[in-house]
Amino acid sequence: MELDAIVIGAGVNGLSAAALLGAKGRRVLVLEANPVPGGAVQTAEVTLPGFRHDLFAMNLGLFAGGPVVAALGERLAAHGFALVPSAKPFCSVFPDGSMLGVEADVERTVANVAAVAPEDVRAWQELTEYLGQVAPTLIGVLGAEMPSRSLMTTMWKARRQFGTTGVLEIAKLALSSTRAFTEEHFESPRTRALMASWGMHLDFAPDLAGGALFSFLETIGGQLFGMVIGQGGASTMINALVGVIEESGGRVACNERVTEIIVESGRAVGVRTAQGAEYRASRGVIANVNPRLVPALLPEDQRSRPDVARAETFRPGLATMMIHLALDDLPAWTAEGARDFNYVHIGPYLDDMAMTYTQAAAGLLPDSPTLVVGQPTVSDPSRAPEGKHVLWVQVRVLPLHPREGSWDEIGEAYADGVIDKIEQYAPGLRSRILGRKVLTPADLQRANANLVLGDSLGGSHHPAQFFFLRPVPGWWRHRTPVDRLFVCGAGTWPGGGVGGGSGALVAAAVG
Ligand SMILES: Cc1cc2nc3c(=O)[nH]c(=O)nc-3n(C[C@H](O)[C@H](O)[C@H](O)COP(=O)(O)OP(=O)(O)OC[C@H]3O[C@@H](n4cnc5c(N)ncnc54)[C@H](O)[C@@H]3O)c2cc1C
Repeated sequence: MELDAIVIGAGVNGLSAAALLGAKGRRVLVLEANPVPGGAVQTAEVTLPGFRHDLFAMNLGLFAGGPVVAALGERLAAHGFALVPSAKPFCSVFPDGSMLGVEADVERTVANVAAVAPEDVRAWQELTEYLGQVAPTLIGVLGAEMPSRSLMTTMWKARRQFGTTGVLEIAKLALSSTRAFTEEHFESPRTRALMASWGMHLDFAPDLAGGALFSFLETIGGQLFGMVIGQGGASTMINALVGVIEESGGRVACNERVTEIIVESGRAVGVRTAQGAEYRASRGVIANVNPRLVPALLPEDQRSRPDVARAETFRPGLATMMIHLALDDLPAWTAEGARDFNYVHIGPYLDDMAMTYTQAAAGLLPDSPTLVVGQPTVSDPSRAPEGKHVLWVQVRVLPLHPREGSWDEIGEAYADGVIDKIEQYAPGLRSRILGRKVLTPADLQRANANLVLGDSLGGSHHPAQFFFLRPVPGWWRHRTPVDRLFVCGAGTWPGGGVGGGSGALVAAAVG
């Protein structure tokens, strides 16, 4: 078959690009190294039969509100894509047994804030109103190619709406640390912690510039936009994307690792795989590959160019561990209300998160890592046998090169310590565990080469690697220094997460 485009990697962005190009009538082939598509979006029974675990991403809110669903929503639904909304997206629990939760309802959330942090109610309401005002600008910026005319239009409209000072306030929000932002707005350490825990989902310790924007969007946005997970597991999204691609005449070929991008006369014209197959495409090659790994796929004369080799300096964020549990019952949280929330954050406080990040960055195993305890069966009971549950525990953040030994040596023991920490907030958890699967940072990298050293983000989001600097200077607008070689994925703008945004932007770039 004569191909228009080849996509290397069947992650959410590669598949999104292929689906959108296919919808335009382009002939697309996706080559995936793994036996199954999805990359960091996979659902599997890794503990006991009948217990379906989202091995990596669980929260599909970005995808649900993103450009791919906007363009292909009905076709995805026809291929089985189904979401389960959460009435109670997330909360934080604290050592004294208190909690603070964000519900998909402003009034209820304000009541929750009033119960444990009455001094912050007014600021909370003001920030909720502020998000309502700036959301169109922020969504416009995050959805625009960086830089682009559409970005300039969004900024121009923002200046008309908010004035120069108002636009500079937005810029300040984008560059603030979560500590600076939360100290400016909130008094209670609980409200501050609630927001700062979202920075830890990315690689933003409370004191790092750039952490406030995502924390603000997720925390305040949780009440306005809620949270959704996939019906039966996040792979509903991947299966539907593959269905849409195939319906358009495209193909997703698994167990096909690309080992070389073919460049002729300075243009990417095709690829070779480990099996020795060669494929060619007229419009170019899209690498849904961590930019740091792209130069190694190029011929020596291209790889050695300084503007190409620069991508090898693209830095990973700190590492992550996943612990999947099959449970007899949900954790018995001391803060009883936490039982109803999809995510329970355990920092507990902002200073603990700062210490955790510093220890991990220095190569030490954090004494008390920040935990995101996912309870998907609260809203989607289909993921476990009747009356049973699965728990999704993400450990933030861990060293890329632990001094104590390799992850294969120390991973299980460290996971034991994580369970101990949850037990402090939910006594008796161990007695409810029916099965357990630990995915160390080394396991994450083995599962998906893009997760370099166990970095769940596909590259750090610190300001030097974000906005028009993502992934590295000169590799912008989803293009590379090699003509017709495009990049998409978490390592490119607008960054990590299951949004599909870079897939949509690269599809437009390929044309
Ligand atoms: C543990 C964890 C939890 C997360 N939780 C969430 C969450 O709840 N919500 C959220 O929004 N985001 C979450 N994320 C982030 C999100 O899952 C990722 O940012 C996103 O899925 C990355 O998509 P991608 O398009 O970059 O492709 P990837 O998922 O990185 O997939 C790329 C694919 O390319 C393949 N590939 C690479 N090189 C080659 C090659 N040479 N030849 C062929 N194939 C190749 C890989 O095998 C892989 O399948 C999480 C990530 C992790 C790891």
